[in-house]
Amino acid sequence: MAAKGKKKLTKKEKRRIRIIVFQIAILFFAMIGVITTFVLIVKGIGALVKKEVAEPGVTEEFLTVNSYSRPGIKLDAVNGIVVHYTANPGSNAQDNRDYFENLRFTHKTKVSSHYVIGLDGEILWLIPLDEMSYASNSRNSDTISIECCHPDESGMFNDATYNSLVNLVAWLCKKFNLSTDKVIRHYDVTGKICPKYYVDHEDAWQKFLEDVQSKL
Ligand SMILES: [Zn+2]
Repeated sequence: MAAKGKKKLTKKEKRRIRIIVFQIAILFFAMIGVITTFVLIVKGIGALVKKEVAEPGVTEEFLTVNSYSRPGIKLDAVNGIVVHYTANPGSNAQDNRDYFENLRFTHKTKVSSHYVIGLDGEILWLIPLDEMSYASNSRNSDTISIECCHPDESGMFNDATYNSLVNLVAWLCKKFNLSTDKVIRHYDVTGKICPKYYVDHEDAWQKFLEDVQSKL
């Protein structure tokens, strides 16, 4: 048997090896290209899906048009969303809706809001979004208002109310093409301590805005 010796490659063989190495390199870079494209497509679809904000489930219980809670005046525009608290611990959405409705008989004051969110996270829609509410003083003419129920004097929203508020505000931001810097507290309009917990705790308000942003 002949011992295995080192065989010198011919020019033709060297050329063939160079071609094979070149082909492997091309294949390698092509595969990286395909994988990168695939990842970008998946990310793109993910981003598109994320941009859809589901319309929150709301119960329409429009107030009767009256000069104490639903003046029937058209909004000039929607340039912001104003968050409030009811300042009535333990009251639910229906209680607050009925209070606004009854103002047309009691004439106690002029107050209302577009939405009230209850302690179970239920959302009552009280005034059409092209009409003015009586909630936010000088900003009544160009904002949507949301009253939130709360269990106790601290004014902190429970999880159900909070989660519904985040969804509703995110949906409104999308609908009216507003960024989260247009989401404000009643406090930011007049200095009134409303919504109390989120005036007392600036960090909680900032966290709320972040939670809304994460939905957009
Ligand atoms: Zn308020």
